[in-house]
This record gives sequence, structure tokens and C-alpha cells, in this order.
Amino acid sequence: MKFNIFVLFLFVSFSGFAQTSPIKPKKLVVINSYSQYLSSVKSNPNNELIEIKKAIPTIKLDIRYATKNNFMKQVMYGQARAFARKPVVESLKKVQSELNKKGLGLKIFDGYRPYAITVAFYKKASDKNFVANPKQGSKHNRGCAVDLTIINLKTGKEIPMPTPYDSFSAAAAANYPNVSAEVKKNRDFFISLMRKHKLNVLENEWWHYDFQGWQNYALMDIPFEKL
Ligand SMILES: [Zn+2]
Repeated sequence: MKFNIFVLFLFVSFSGFAQTSPIKPKKLVVINSYSQYLSSVKSNPNNELIEIKKAIPTIKLDIRYATKNNFMKQVMYGQARAFARKPVVESLKKVQSELNKKGLGLKIFDGYRPYAITVAFYKKASDKNFVANPKQGSKHNRGCAVDLTIINLKTGKEIPMPTPYDSFSAAAAANYPNVSAEVKKNRDFFISLMRKHKLNVLENEWWHYDFQGWQNYALMDIPFEKL
């Protein structure tokens, strides 16, 4: 009898949680087999995850999650590679060519991120505002988000921006007001150039951009090694 009451209590608690939670308790679909991925590409070529460096050879990579130089302080990726869906890479190509005319270029910190990595981030992160909730998945998992900055082509150095990459601070916000005139000019130029090419800045991370139409792309859990 005691056992039955306990079970009922658990059930009530769970249904209560589901109602108050802002996340819809629907089942998350994650593509985690390579054959499933291939058939999604066959039905829509835009689903292809393109290796960014292969499509845009002049782009610089600094894949922090393939090193210990990241907020996790551990190597999360076995390979220092960056991928994004085909139309995202086409947008990046246009951004890169505009920047190149000014002696500038893109430096990529992260692109497509396998779903399993997002789960690991969420478990570890102390400030959940800066990591995606696995219940919804990240736009990185859809191959539709990129983390990046601008470098000066002559020096190879990043141009001044409000914070370093993955700084979990208020100053990382895309509209943070207390920055120097130079930093504001750089950040706002970056945000508007990206938006022109269908990439919208995330409001609390100046370096993170979501591709317009990300809703049309599934969450993925295919490791880099298979791509
Ligand atoms: Zn990001």
C-alpha cells in the first residue's frame, strides 16, 4: 500500500512539473545514424554538413573545444574541424568576401556541434544561461549556428571586441553599452554584416550567430570523425 502511494505521488509530481515547465514535453528528434543523415541529404541537399575550411579555404579556424582552452577546461572534440549546413556556409562565404575587401577575415571558434557534446556542456556549466538546454537542443546541433570573430589579415590578430570568446559575462551581450567607441564600432559592424547574410546574433553572446530558418534543420548527433 505504501508503495502504491509513493508511485502516485511521483506521477503527480512529474505531471505538475511538465505543466509548469516552459519546455514542451514533446519528444526530441535527434538524427544519430549516418545512414539517416545521408537520406536527409538525399531528400534535401541543403541538409549537407559542409566542412567550412574546405568551402572557404581562406577562413581561419581556432576550434577551442578540440583543445583544453575552453570553459570546460577539457578536450571535447577529437578533431579540430568546423561544419555547417550548406546554406550557412554559403552565407559565410559572402561575409568572408566582404571582409576580405577591407583587409579583414573570419575566424571560426565553433560550428556544428554533436548533440552529445551539448548534453555534456549542460551537466558541467555553472551558469546555465550560456549553454543550451538539451531538452531543446542547440542551434549548433542543427548545423545552423556559428561562433566566430573577425581578424586583421595582416597581423592575424582578432580585432577588438567586447570580451574574449565564451566569456560568461554581462559584457558579452550583443547590445552591452559600456564598451569603447572602437569596440562598439567593430561589434556593431560585425552584427549588421552577419545579419545582411541571414545570420542573427544571439542576444547574450556577440560571437554567436543563428542562421535564419534554423527551424527547418534537425538536431544531429553525428561525430566529426564520420563526416
Ligand atoms: Zn554558439
